[in-house]
Amino acid sequence: MKEQEEVPALSHKEVKDEAVEATCTIAGKTEGSHCTTCGAVLKEQEEIPALGHKEVKDEAVEATCTTAGKTEGSHCETCGAILKEQEEISALGHKEVKDEAVEATCTTVGKTEGSHCATCGEVLKEQEEIPMLDHSEVKDEAVNATCTIAGKTEGSHCAICGKVLEKQEEIPAYGHKEVEDEAVEAPALPAERQLEAIARTAEKC
Ligand SMILES: [Zn+2]
Ligand SMILES: [Zn+2]
Ligand SMILES: [Zn+2]
Ligand SMILES: [Zn+2]
Repeated sequence: MKEQEEVPALSHKEVKDEAVEATCTIAGKTEGSHCTTCGAVLKEQEEIPALGHKEVKDEAVEATCTTAGKTEGSHCETCGAILKEQEEISALGHKEVKDEAVEATCTTVGKTEGSHCATCGEVLKEQEEIPMLDHSEVKDEAVNATCTIAGKTEGSHCAICGKVLEKQEEIPAYGHKEVEDEAVEAPALPAERQLEAIARTAEKC
C-alpha cells in the first residue's frame, strides 16, 4: 500500500453574507460569511425578529349635514400599512324645519313661508318680505260748532289699526252773540209783552 501523503489544508475562501434589515413584518439577518469553496458557514447569520407595526390612531371625523365623516382607524407609522380601516359615514342631510309665514298688516310687514336646518341653521328656503298693507280709510264726519259746543273738521282713520290718517281739527264754539234789545221808554209794554221779549232773546241761543 502506498503511504498517504499529507496535503496541507487549503484555507476557506470567505465570502460575506449581507445583513438583511428587519421590517415591521419580515425578520432580518445579521451579517455573516461562508466559504465559497466548501460552503461551510464561517460566521453564522443571526435572525433579527420582525419589528412589528407601530400603530398610530386615525381620528374619527364627525359627519355633518353636508360632509361625510369617518370612523376611527389606525395605521403603522413606519410602513404606512393600514391596520384598522376608517369607514366612511355618509353626510347626515339637513333637517328641514318650517318657518311660518307671517301675514302683513297695515302696521307691520309680513313674511312668506320659509325653512331652515334645525341642525346647522342653514337657511334652506329664504323667507321673503311681504310689504305692509294700505290702511283701510274711514271718514270721520265733520261736526258743526254751536254757540256752546266746539265742532270738528272732517278727518279719517284706519278701521283696522285705528291710526288717525287725517286729524280732525277742533272748531271752537262760537260763543253767544249778544243782541241788545232796544230800551223801550215808557209807556212800558204790558208786563206779559216784556216777558215774551225776554223769552225771545233767550231762545236765540
Ligand atoms: Zn471552505
Ligand atoms: Zn409597519
Ligand atoms: Zn343642516
Ligand atoms: Zn291701519
